[in-house]
Amino acid sequence: MTKAMLAFLSIQELRKKLDTKQLSEQELLDYTLKRFAKHDSELKSALELFDRDSILAEACSETLGQLKGIPGLIKDNICQKGRIASAASKTLQNYTSVYDATVISRLKKEGALLVGRANCDEFAMGSSNETSAFQKTANPWDISRVPGGSSGGSAAAVAAGFVPWALGSETGGSVRQPAAFCGIVGFKPTYGLISRYGLIAYASSVDQIGVMARSVFDVATVVSAIAGHDLHDSTSLDVSKKDYTNTLNGSIKPGLRIGVIDNMLNAEGMDAQVKERISDSIKVYEKLGATIKHVNLPTFEYAAAVYFIVSRAEAASNLARYDGVRYGYRDAAAQSLDEMYTSSRYEEFGHEVRRRILIGNYVLSAGHAAEFYDSAKKVQNMMRYELINAFQDVDLIVLPVHAAPAFKLGELNADPLQMDLQDYFTCSANLTGAPAISLPCGFTKEQLPVGFQLMGPHLSEELLFQTAHAYQQHTSWHTMHPPSFKD
Ligand code: GLN
Repeated sequence: MTKAMLAFLSIQELRKKLDTKQLSEQELLDYTLKRFAKHDSELKSALELFDRDSILAEACSETLGQLKGIPGLIKDNICQKGRIASAASKTLQNYTSVYDATVISRLKKEGALLVGRANCDEFAMGSSNETSAFQKTANPWDISRVPGGSSGGSAAAVAAGFVPWALGSETGGSVRQPAAFCGIVGFKPTYGLISRYGLIAYASSVDQIGVMARSVFDVATVVSAIAGHDLHDSTSLDVSKKDYTNTLNGSIKPGLRIGVIDNMLNAEGMDAQVKERISDSIKVYEKLGATIKHVNLPTFEYAAAVYFIVSRAEAASNLARYDGVRYGYRDAAAQSLDEMYTSSRYEEFGHEVRRRILIGNYVLSAGHAAEFYDSAKKVQNMMRYELINAFQDVDLIVLPVHAAPAFKLGELNADPLQMDLQDYFTCSANLTGAPAISLPCGFTKEQLPVGFQLMGPHLSEELLFQTAHAYQQHTSWHTMHPPSFKD
């Protein structure tokens, strides 16, 4: 086998090569770093690639975990000890983390090779990677287009075959939307299944670390390494570690009932080709024996509005810590304390982050909290009840991920509302705490990937992975790769 063919191998395939000594960890790592060196000037998926020897030194050499020797990329809002964690913001560009996030220490214990930091939107605020203070990542299927966001660097690197898996984070759809834009799998866990310890906070009540890979099996492999209770995160659920690949048998659960939300599939602005691809994927499940039912979730239409308020409110509180005193950049030229606070925050936060802090403080302010924040929290509760009710009748729900395929870099810059509406189909899972996975389900005429998502009840990850894996066993979309990055 030539080295060029390593690029799109799955974790399992690489595992076999490593275990049978057809390939060494060092060779695989060198190959990975070379691919980044060759192609990443075009894609700009990584903010930093670490030095080869330090990558090898960090991975535990004693374990025999599934990820031992398997390279992966980490979104730059997840702390890796001794490495910069900038959240793609100037305010943290010189911040070196003094500890490992729980997911990172678990990955290192498994022997995974953490090769670098993935670009993302600043503080994970965005849907295109364009709010990153440092660079704009491109979509490997068409480099004039965005990879989605905020975990766009992670998505682009996996789609282009630089690494088989990557970590991203989700607040309103930041793993699933870029995964769909780049033609890979993106998973957002049940709130509390994967520890948030060491994830730079955006909106803590909905933030979760998520996983990206080219197959469901690979996603489940990484989730098995990082999920499970963590004492360091008070919102962590009391779930023990398990092997999430156990249920992946290629078929669906007998009697599986899948719900289709009509008002979502027929939403205004839905691209006809995207809708067709999603309808096709529903037919795949029908063929596999699932019963398709129609469910009604009227409050889901308000999800983006609720998310807009809740996420900004929490962002304003979370980002108050970057005041130049405790965290973040300090303007050394300021003449007074007030000036130091103001100019430190003004100068080093990007436009989108400042906009969100302003909106967040507004919706929380004494005169407006009842109208905005409190109302949003009420609707959020209604969404939760509605979803619990829906799951009385169906096991899982099918939803679009995006209304239209990846847009051009710069295309939505002048239209913040359209940018915010990128979360329309995804943020309901975050607001309800439900797990969801987006899967590639075909292409538009322009060869741009389309995704759909499955959402399940809390802690239904095993069923979700089983059902998603069955889809991939009966379709081949996930085996198609961007032509420009084949070697
Ligand atoms: N696009 C959403 C936002 O900008 C989602 C971001 C995320 O999930 N981190 O808030």
